[in-house]
Amino acid sequence: MPSPVSLDIPAAMQAAVYRGEGRLCLEEVEVPQIESGEILVRVAACGVCPTDIKKIHYNTVAPPRIFGHETSGTIVQVGALVRGFEVGDRVGLHHHVPCMDCHFCKHHAFAQCATYRRTGITAGFEPSGGGFAEFVRVMPFCLPGVVRIPRKNSFLEGALLEPVNTVLKGIRQLGLLPGDTVLVCGQGPIGLLFTRILSIHGMRVIATDLLPNRLVLAKQWGAWQSIEANEHQVAESVGRWTEGRGADAAVVAVPNDGAVWQAQSAIRGGGRVLLFAHTVRDRQTSIDLAKICVDEKALVGSYSSDFTLQKAVARLVFSRQLDVRPLITHTFHLAQTSEAVGLAAKPTAESLKIVVTPGV
Ligand SMILES: [Zn+2]
Ligand SMILES: [Zn+2]
Repeated sequence: MPSPVSLDIPAAMQAAVYRGEGRLCLEEVEVPQIESGEILVRVAACGVCPTDIKKIHYNTVAPPRIFGHETSGTIVQVGALVRGFEVGDRVGLHHHVPCMDCHFCKHHAFAQCATYRRTGITAGFEPSGGGFAEFVRVMPFCLPGVVRIPRKNSFLEGALLEPVNTVLKGIRQLGLLPGDTVLVCGQGPIGLLFTRILSIHGMRVIATDLLPNRLVLAKQWGAWQSIEANEHQVAESVGRWTEGRGADAAVVAVPNDGAVWQAQSAIRGGGRVLLFAHTVRDRQTSIDLAKICVDEKALVGSYSSDFTLQKAVARLVFSRQLDVRPLITHTFHLAQTSEAVGLAAKPTAESLKIVVTPGV
């Protein structure tokens, strides 16, 4: 095999290894060896995502694993067959990339594509993202998801490309026209991204949350109106603000069934409710199906990122038209990954996006 171009790379590294039952242990593991079609990235930053929390705290996959998929860093080794990337490039990564050729991809259902569902970035063990480690290996089918970070932008911004992509993908499901009104339920990091991106696109956002300071934040992030997520009042107020019509769409960015019912009541006939946070399987809830059939209020879901939006997302984030920097309230060293995930799982009034920084 031709020898790859590289910087000095150690044989061992630190990683936060998932050992089951909610435990993340700092361990020394081997630095991944790349094949000729792969690259090795020194991780600078990796965001903590609710899907990591789900896997760690609900034991949905078998240990050992190294999680973390909102990753940015520097390319330190390039396989001999790889074109278009160089050692020293600062990059943001996408751990899922669709094949663009299968039945699902032809229907734009990228998150259901078999290639997309394979995780192509790893720091060792069963590939699981690997961003909570010092180095990750990027497999050939994930190279199209490697995005260069401009010099003026930070690794932290690069680490937010993937979550921003998932939000933009969700917005595309809503069938909105400029000037439409959208209810965004929940103003955590994801809800605030919805609020901001919708307002950038000319929508009037009505933001709800249980925490008063999050409502203030929502206004700063572009919300037109904000209201406490108190069940009875919300649909009434939305009606008042929309000439009695109801919102054109609603985004449910909290895993709360009450918020789904509230969203269904607060939108107009023919509107759409987007589920974005209901990721735990086998939970059931009751729903008034006539709202869907007679009122034509569609209930849609969106999960994960859309490869075809990568360029638009990079422009949005790196131009700072969407400035993601204020979203990051906490950074943790790699050794404190467990604390980082703990805080993300039980956010405080002040905490928003939490990022682990193995190398910033
Ligand atoms: Zn994520
Ligand atoms: Zn496919």
